[in-house]
Amino acid sequence: MALNWVEIDLAALRHNFQQAKDRISKDTAILAVVKSDAYGHGMVPVARELAAMGARFFGVSKFWEAMALRDAHITQPILVLVGIEAQDCEDAIRLGIRPALYRLDHAQRLNDTARKLQTRAKVHVKVDTGMGRLGVPLSELESFLKGLGGFEHLEVEGVFSHFATADERDKHYSALQMERFSRALDLFRRHRVPFTYAHMANSAGTLDLPGAHHQLVRPGIMLYGSPPSHELHHPAHLKPVMSLKARVVQVKQVPQGHPIGYGRTFTAPQDMRLATVPVGYDDGLPRLLSNKGSVLIRGQRAPIVGRVSMNMITVDVSAIAEVREDDEVVVLGSQGSERITADEIAALCGTISYEIYCNVGKNPQRLFV
Ligand code: PLP
Repeated sequence: MALNWVEIDLAALRHNFQQAKDRISKDTAILAVVKSDAYGHGMVPVARELAAMGARFFGVSKFWEAMALRDAHITQPILVLVGIEAQDCEDAIRLGIRPALYRLDHAQRLNDTARKLQTRAKVHVKVDTGMGRLGVPLSELESFLKGLGGFEHLEVEGVFSHFATADERDKHYSALQMERFSRALDLFRRHRVPFTYAHMANSAGTLDLPGAHHQLVRPGIMLYGSPPSHELHHPAHLKPVMSLKARVVQVKQVPQGHPIGYGRTFTAPQDMRLATVPVGYDDGLPRLLSNKGSVLIRGQRAPIVGRVSMNMITVDVSAIAEVREDDEVVVLGSQGSERITADEIAALCGTISYEIYCNVGKNPQRLFV
C-alpha cells in the first residue's frame, strides 16, 4: 500500500455534471473542460464518465491532451483552447480535434491541409471581449473575418470568448463582455460566416449568467466540486471529487521545548503527542501550510506543526484520543463529519482551489472510487 494516495469520487463528479446540466436549457450543450489532466483528477477516466453523462465536447489546452483522449477512444469533438501547431494540423482534421483560431496564418495552414485532405477543417474562432489574454481583438475582427472569407476549406463550428470576472459579485464587466460578444457574433453574421456554437460561460458563467449560455457552456472547476468563488449569486450544491489520504507512520511523545522540523520554526509549548504523516510539498501540499494547516485523524483536526517538508509533515495529536500508527489521515477531503476543502487550503496559501487540485493530482497513486 502506498504511503499516500489520491481518491477520485466518480459519483461526486456525476453529481456536479448534473448540477451544470440542471442550470442550462435543452438547447445548450456542455463542453467539459478536462485540460491539465482534468485539473489533476485524471483526464481519461473523467472524460469517460462525463461522456456517458452527455458531455457534447471536451476542452483541453494542448494538442497532445486531445490525442490522449482519442487514444482512449473518447469520440466527442475536442476543442484545443490554446490552438495547435503546424505539424498537428493533419491529425487534428482527421481526428475531429478543433483548434481555437485567432491568427490568419494558422487559418491559412489549416485551410491548406484540409484542401490536401479534400475536406474542411472545423475551427472555433476565439474573440477577445475583455479578458485581454487570447483571441482576435474586437478592433481587428472585421479584417479577420474578411481574411477568413478566402478559406473555403475552413468551417467555423464555433465562436467563443472568455470571462475575466464572471466569478465576482459585481457583474458589470461581465455584462460588458457579453454585449461585446453579441456584437462580435453580429459581425460574423454580417460577413456571412455561419457558426453552430457560440460559447463564453465558464463555471461562474454557467451558474450566474444564464444570458451567457448560448449554445454551449464550458464548465471546469464546478465539475470537480469547487465553486469558482464564494461571491456567486446562484451557487450550486457541489461535491468535492478529490481526496488526498495517507497513513500515520510514527506517533511519538515530545517534551516541552522540543523543536520540530526544518528551521525549528515550532517549539513544543508543553509535552505533546505528535504524529508524522508522509505527505509533503512534493505531494501537492503547499509549503505555505507550515504551522498553519491541519489534517484529519480519527475524524478530528490535527494542526500541522513545523515546516511542511518535501515528503512529510508533523501534526499535533495531543487532543485526539488513541491515535495509532497506520491510522488513516485525510489531508484533503472528509473524515467523519469534518472536511478539509481545497478552498480552505487555497485560502491559507493565498491561491485558488484550481492550483491545489492540479498539484495534488500529480500523485501517481490515484484510486477511482
Ligand atoms: N474556458 C476556458 C477558455 C478556460 O481557460 C477555462 C479554464 O481556465 C474554462 C473555460 C473553465 O473555467 P472554470 O474552471 O472556471 O469553469
